[in-house]
Amino acid sequence: MSTEDRFCPRCAAALVRRVEGGRERPACPACGYVAYRNPVPVALMRACDGDRLLLVRRANDPLRSFWAPPAGYVEIDETAETAAVRETAEETGFAVAVDGLAGVYAAPGTGIVLIAYRGHVTGGEAVAGEEVEEVGLFAPGRLPAQPRAHSGSPIDRWLLSVVGDLLR
Ligand SMILES: [Zn+2]
Repeated sequence: MSTEDRFCPRCAAALVRRVEGGRERPACPACGYVAYRNPVPVALMRACDGDRLLLVRRANDPLRSFWAPPAGYVEIDETAETAAVRETAEETGFAVAVDGLAGVYAAPGTGIVLIAYRGHVTGGEAVAGEEVEEVGLFAPGRLPAQPRAHSGSPIDRWLLSVVGDLLR
């Protein structure tokens, strides 16, 4: 167990294991806190400029140095759509408009639910954000080669398959 599973983040009492909501979870006997573990939403934007796809080469794990659509965690005060548009602006310099949902992807144990939107570029110009190495627009059938066959973590392999599905 990690530290966060041993001590209450509210009152610092030692946690116990207790059945809550149908399964055993760390819970605080002092204040009633229960450590629910749920996947976190991540928003992704599969944006086009004409027939070209907007991709970034990621600077960080997961999928470091791989090409993928811009994506990031949904903040508490925004919708998944808003997050997808914001992450695209931050990572690529391009403004985009949402056209619809591309898909929802989840795999047990990864800790995330990926909510993917389709959209199109409405303005801006390529400026690589802090979390990306490179920004590119690629015609269908002329997508950049991924850096290598991936043998990384389970979440890397799952994400790569999702990206492959989204770019098909
Ligand atoms: Zn507590």
